[in-house]
Amino acid sequence: MSLPEANTLTSLIATVCYTLLLIITFTRRSQQEKQTRWLLLFLVLSIIWEFTRFFAPPESAAISLSAIALIINVITLGIATAVYASWPHQRLWLVLSGTLLAATIASSLFLPNQTINLNTLQLPPITLSYLITITSWFILALYLLLRTWSGYRHTQFPWHANRLLFWGITLLVTFIGESLLFFNWSGLIIAGQITRFIGVIGLVYAVSSYLIFDVRTRFQRGLAFIFVTFISALPLIAAVVIVQSFGQQMSWDVATVILLTAVVITLGIFLNQPFQRLLERFVARYLLGEAIDTNKVVRSYSQAISRTLDVQQLSIVIIGTLNELLGTSRGALMLVTREADQYTIAPIPGMGDTPRRSLNLALDSIFIQALIQKHQPLLQYELDFNPNYTNLTPDEKEWLQELSMEAFVPVITDRDLDGLITIGPKRSALPYQPSELELLQVLADQTVVALQNARLFSELGTQNEQIQLLNTDLISQNERLEIMDRVKSDFITIASHELRTPLTQVKGYSDILAAMNEENALTREQTREIVGHINRATLQLERLITAMLDASQLDVDGMQLTFVQTKLDMIVKLAMEPLAQALKERRITIEVCDLEILPPIYADFKRLVQAFQNLIGNAVKYTPDHGNITIDATLLNNPNGSSDHIEMVIADTGIGIDPQFHELIFEKFFRIGDPQLHSTGSTKFKGAGPGLGLPIAKGVIEAHDGRIWVESEGEDEKRLPGSRFYIILPVRPSGVQTATSQPASRPSYLVG
Ligand code: ADP
Repeated sequence: MSLPEANTLTSLIATVCYTLLLIITFTRRSQQEKQTRWLLLFLVLSIIWEFTRFFAPPESAAISLSAIALIINVITLGIATAVYASWPHQRLWLVLSGTLLAATIASSLFLPNQTINLNTLQLPPITLSYLITITSWFILALYLLLRTWSGYRHTQFPWHANRLLFWGITLLVTFIGESLLFFNWSGLIIAGQITRFIGVIGLVYAVSSYLIFDVRTRFQRGLAFIFVTFISALPLIAAVVIVQSFGQQMSWDVATVILLTAVVITLGIFLNQPFQRLLERFVARYLLGEAIDTNKVVRSYSQAISRTLDVQQLSIVIIGTLNELLGTSRGALMLVTREADQYTIAPIPGMGDTPRRSLNLALDSIFIQALIQKHQPLLQYELDFNPNYTNLTPDEKEWLQELSMEAFVPVITDRDLDGLITIGPKRSALPYQPSELELLQVLADQTVVALQNARLFSELGTQNEQIQLLNTDLISQNERLEIMDRVKSDFITIASHELRTPLTQVKGYSDILAAMNEENALTREQTREIVGHINRATLQLERLITAMLDASQLDVDGMQLTFVQTKLDMIVKLAMEPLAQALKERRITIEVCDLEILPPIYADFKRLVQAFQNLIGNAVKYTPDHGNITIDATLLNNPNGSSDHIEMVIADTGIGIDPQFHELIFEKFFRIGDPQLHSTGSTKFKGAGPGLGLPIAKGVIEAHDGRIWVESEGEDEKRLPGSRFYIILPVRPSGVQTATSQPASRPSYLVG
């Protein structure tokens, strides 16, 4: 066949073939993926290019059209490659291809007939534009091949890498085919067209099917097959050759030689079988590394895991065994827990780095459902490329990316997912083979009982810990109840003491008053003094009864408060007023921070004054002379838009409070120390009270949506560790009905 004939004929056939391929790809495309669309465009351009070759063979003057079509073809293939391999940067490719395309067009337009003499290289002369076309094509093809190769080398997961390897090989075949078309020899042109077509079929296969066979293993197996066939045939060939030469030497007649050769061949074929099998086993063991004795593996695996009762230990044993068996680099056991509306997957690292973040998945998550329904290992490769998994949630995708595992093997109990064995890529960077994945599933099925036992065991451990915690809690509650019981009986003692003392005073003084009045011995001065005593005693009684009523109100219907806009500096000032005399006498200093800068709050003015009076009064009572009290306040801004809060701290340098009483002191009638002691004055050092001050303060603060608690190292009269009472108050308690006026006068019940 002449060169022009070869060119036009092959181009015509190729045009038909590419058109068929285009139709098949178009009709069989599963979805309009970007990469398929670019490859379809590439096929269309291939058809156009072949057309230009058909109408304008290379040696004609119209070569420029075909050259430009070829370069555009490579550029389109480059874009399809970029999409297929998800290149992060495509700018370099676009700049390179743009420049080279421009150079090709320019040289075809402006220098169509400029020839270069290649006599020195013993080559026929060619046009400059043709040289530029070949160079551009070469640079673009080389760039695509190198970039695909580099992508393959840097891909962590073997199955992902395999996909790029396959693409790279088909690209190479395509480009080899194209390169052959540059030669002016009909044999090479036919070979070039065939090779290119095979390469393009490979490209179409790659974009239209995510399942690409394991290229490296297939290649290895192919080599192994050729090796085994060749070596196993050697003795047979040798025997035939020996019979032939022996026959010649001994001058046997032809019939004898043929008969003997036939016998040798029959015997050879018969004996060859075991030899071939032996060779196959040798190749499998030493060259392909496939000598896994499944039964033995399953037996030793089951034994190893059956002895493990701890989930963490189980994960280490499982992944350790898989590491020995398959050369896994990393792995983890995942505990899957089904709750009412979701699954939770919690990783238990076995080997290598594994993020410990758990993932919550919906009950109908595709990931979970695929594992349950297929009951076989799921590869990360499938999750990335199988169109069935494109709807994974962003959260699932992010978690899977963080994990960076190669395969997920389900551990299924009662048709539900109980766990997952996840393994990273092999150290050999070879993909997991179907037989290995099958073995992995068998091992995962063996894990069911061990996993259930380990989970039960760890649940038992957690329950045990919880019981112990409950026990300790019970003990402390018991102690608290005992104390409360004591408080109840103390109440009678305290109440009778507290009530009897002023009552006895009233009765005593009124008796004296009556007796002296009988005798007409009362002077004005004496009367005033005795009435003064009676007044003080009644006042004390009144205060006690008010406190008792307030305390009982807490139990009945809580505090009835009237909220007004008020300032904390006013409240604290009024609360401190009755204590001024005592502070002076006992030389206790009191430092109050600048409360005026705080914003006004909505509060029940009278009740807050009462609460602060109780707290500051206690600080005075339980701080020895020359002590110090500080009152601090900070505005806590609330970032989430709800009301701001004010934190106040009343700290003293007093005797402190034992931590075991930090909660109890807020109980009614509870006081630390001897219940027999009765009130010895509201400001005297350690002057015992009825044990109602703090419960009332707490009731008032909680009725304002606030909180109160105490911090103190403990009680020590020598070291004086002091106490710090914390109060948190909202600037505007929720659901407050406000009356915005400020209280005009000071509360009438305040004493002093
Ligand atoms: P009381 O009327 O006895 O003061 P409270 O309810 O005000 O009753 O206080 C309960 C107990 O808390 C007191 O008996 C006292 O032991 C302890 N307490 C309260 N405030 C202080 C403080 N600032 N420092 C040390 N102990 C305190």
